[in-house]
This record gives sequence, C-alpha cells and structure tokens, in this order.
Amino acid sequence: MSHLPQSQPVPDADHDTDVVIVGGGMVGGVLAQALALDGWRVEVVEQRAPGGSSSFDRRLTAVADAGWQYMDTLGLVDQALAAAAEAIREVRVFDRGHFGLTRITAGSAGVEALGYVMPNRELGERLEALLKQPPAGQASIRYHRPARYLSHDTDESGVSVQIASGAQGGTQPTWLRARLMVAADGADSPVRERAGLSVHRRQYDQVATVATAMPARPHQGVAFECFTTGGPLAVLPAADGRVSLVWVARRDEAGRIAELDEAGFARAVDSAFGHRLGGFSAISPRAQYPLSLVTAGEAVADRLVVLGNAAHALHPVAGQGFNLCLRDIRDLTRVLRADRGAGVDPGAPDRLTQYQSLRQADYRRTIGLTDGLVRGFSLDLPLLGHLRGATLSLFDGVVPLKNRLVRATRGIA
Ligand SMILES: Cc1cc2nc3c(=O)[nH]c(=O)nc-3n(C[C@H](O)[C@H](O)[C@H](O)COP(=O)(O)OP(=O)(O)OC[C@H]3O[C@@H](n4cnc5c(N)ncnc54)[C@H](O)[C@@H]3O)c2cc1C
Repeated sequence: MSHLPQSQPVPDADHDTDVVIVGGGMVGGVLAQALALDGWRVEVVEQRAPGGSSSFDRRLTAVADAGWQYMDTLGLVDQALAAAAEAIREVRVFDRGHFGLTRITAGSAGVEALGYVMPNRELGERLEALLKQPPAGQASIRYHRPARYLSHDTDESGVSVQIASGAQGGTQPTWLRARLMVAADGADSPVRERAGLSVHRRQYDQVATVATAMPARPHQGVAFECFTTGGPLAVLPAADGRVSLVWVARRDEAGRIAELDEAGFARAVDSAFGHRLGGFSAISPRAQYPLSLVTAGEAVADRLVVLGNAAHALHPVAGQGFNLCLRDIRDLTRVLRADRGAGVDPGAPDRLTQYQSLRQADYRRTIGLTDGLVRGFSLDLPLLGHLRGATLSLFDGVVPLKNRLVRATRGIA
C-alpha cells in the first residue's frame, strides 16, 4: 500500500462518517445503496448536479442475469426500471464477411433471460429516488452535490477529504472525515492520482458510436455481436421494440460516421450489420466515446478502495465494464460486512488486502478476455478473418467453450 507524505495538519472535519465515496455515477451510486443497506453511514461527493453524472447519459447497459438479480436484492429494480429494461433471450456472435456463427439461448442456459438491457438514465432516476427517501431502517446516505473532491490526507485512524461545494465549487472548502474512502470518480480519477497509484493506459484508436433505433423486423430479444474489420457492432434488444446500437470503428471512420445524416447512418449501420433485421429507422441522437483500456496498478491503498472506471475502464466490446463493477461492489460489501461488530473499522488494512486478493482472478480473466477480443477481432488480415469465422463455428460445436465465449461476450459471467 502507498503512504502519502504527511502534509499540513487537517482542520476539524464538518462531518464524521464510515465511508466517503468520491463520484456519484453508476458505481458510486450503487455502492452507496449497498453500503447503506448494510448499515454503514455513507457520504457521496459528486461534482455534477443531480442526475448530471456522465454515467447517466443516453447509453443503455447490458447487465448479466446475475448482476441484475444482485441489483434487485439492493432494491434497485423497481417497476419503472424493470419496465424500461428488455430481456436478452438469445446471444448471437458472428464475424461479418466470413462464415461462423455461435449462439446461446436462455433456454439452453436454463435461465429465463441471459441478461437485461437497461437505460442508464432510468438507473440514475431510481438511485435518485432512493437517495431522497431511503427505505425505513436504512442507514443514512448524505449527498454532497454539486461538490468537487479537492484532496485527501490519510492517517492511522481515518481519512480526511477536502471538498468544495456549489456549482463552481463556490463555497469555502470543507473537510469530511471517514474511516474508508472509495474512489469511484471515473477513468481520470483525481483521487487515484492524489494517492499516487500507478495506472496503465492503452489507446485503442477506436471510437464507439452509440444510438438507439427501430429495426424493421422485431428483435425478439436477440443480442447480436457482429465483428467487422473496423471493430465490433453490438445490436441489443431494448424496450418498445427498439434496439441499442454500439458501433465501434477506427477513429477516422468514426469521424465519417459522425458526419452522416440520419438516413445515411441508418444505411451504413444496416450494411455493416449484414441487413439482419431488415434495416433501421427513427435513429436517436448519436453519442461517441473514444476507447481505451485504463487499469489501476492497485485496487487499494491506505484507507482507500479504487472502484469502477477508476479501477478498470474497459472497451465495451463484451459489455463487461459495469458487470465487473457489480461483482466488485458485491465482494467489497461482503468483506466489509464479515464479522462486523460494534466499532469494526471498514478501512482496516487487512480487510482491504483481502478485498484486493479476492478480486484478482476476476480482473485477470475479464480484462484479459476483453482486450483479447478487441485485438483478435479488430485485425484486418484475410487469413485471420477465416480463422475467426472457423473458431466461432468450432465454438458452436463445443458447448462449454461456446458458453464461455458467449457468456463473456455480453457480460454474462
Ligand atoms: C459505449 C459504452 C458502452 C458500455 N456498455 C456497457 C454494457 O453494455 N455493459 C457493461 O457492463 N458495461 C458497459 N459499459 C461500461 C460502463 O459504462 C462503466 O462500467 C460505468 O460507466 C462505470 O461507471 P463509474 O461510475 O465507475 O464511472 P463514471 O461514469 O465515469 O462516473 C464517475 C463520476 O465521478 C464524478 N467525478 C469525477 N471527478 C470528480 C471530482 N473531482 N469530484 C467529485 N466527483 C467527481 C463524475 O462527475 C462522474 O459522475 C460501457 C461503456 C461505454 C463507454
């Protein structure tokens, strides 16, 4: 674990709590709810106004069945979120331009749905409602927003976190005091930087274009993952008969995609997809995300856990990012909850070390698989294309292998 150099003495804190979470996006918000259900006192620091986190934009997220069930146990899947989400009944993976298709159905996996595709905004609204009115008996969640994290200092018994509240960070900086701090402040995490943790970055030279559309033929709950030479194209079933498009292309190509008008975009995406749903119309406004792999060298430091995009921001090819975060949250809360008696310290070094070792195998597997898929399926070599097609066909005949690929390919792990 890293040790911060002792800086100026920290003034008395305005609040004293168990856990301070920096970042109120999808991960910070879900963690706050999970910790509060376990009875921890939680304070969240989010620099944007309510609902304004970058997490809660127009994107839709594919959540594996296990992750969805976990969200349900946290009270997140209310009627509105369930109605806004669409079940994935089947996943089909194919390599555009070559033979080779592999598929898995919910029936063959023995589940009702392989996962669910939910609009991020709806999750944001659900979290907002829970924060405003926590269920009776649940420990408090205190939100500071808009409020910006400025710095922190760690000592033997806790961590002091300096924040500036107000739209422009306008008010006098204040200090929060906690026994554990969680950095859920995104891929460029200021907390991770301040803690001096190393970070590994790889630019993919790819950009994801994201939109929703109405397909000409019903999607029937099928999630398609189509590997094209430029990058993968995911067409995911969404509510009201629509589909969510996540189209990854090389940077220059993505620039051209951004300039297409609605009809031109609909034609281009249909052609890349091999006309499988008979075309697309009613395209929503598009958003673009430059893609890179960002991983923190350590998931924990003194009285600090690094979570979400701050710990691992992945390529969306396999829909793994948020699913991995949900498993992080589940394991972190379990470790903090274990043998919990009065006065148990959630930031005790042995707990944090235990959490870090618990997560290592999943990190290696998930990050390695995502990165491997990006590199293996993005290379535009004629022979490799046939090999990929053949591999997908082979997968289709070898059930355990196929299940592993397909489960991984939409975060169904
Ligand atoms: C195109 C795309 C598609 C995806 N699809 C899927 C999918 O289908 N399935 C899946 O599992 N995953 C998917 N993901 C991954 C998923 O979006 C991420 O795992 C998730 O957004 C991580 O959320 P986060 O809360 O960690 O980070 P962020 O969303 O980056 O939130 C960080 C928060 O910290 C706040 N913050 C930053 N600095 C400060 C500061 N100084 N003070 C206070 N607050 C601060 C920010 O305002 C922000 O609200 C996808 C990602 C992309 C890019």
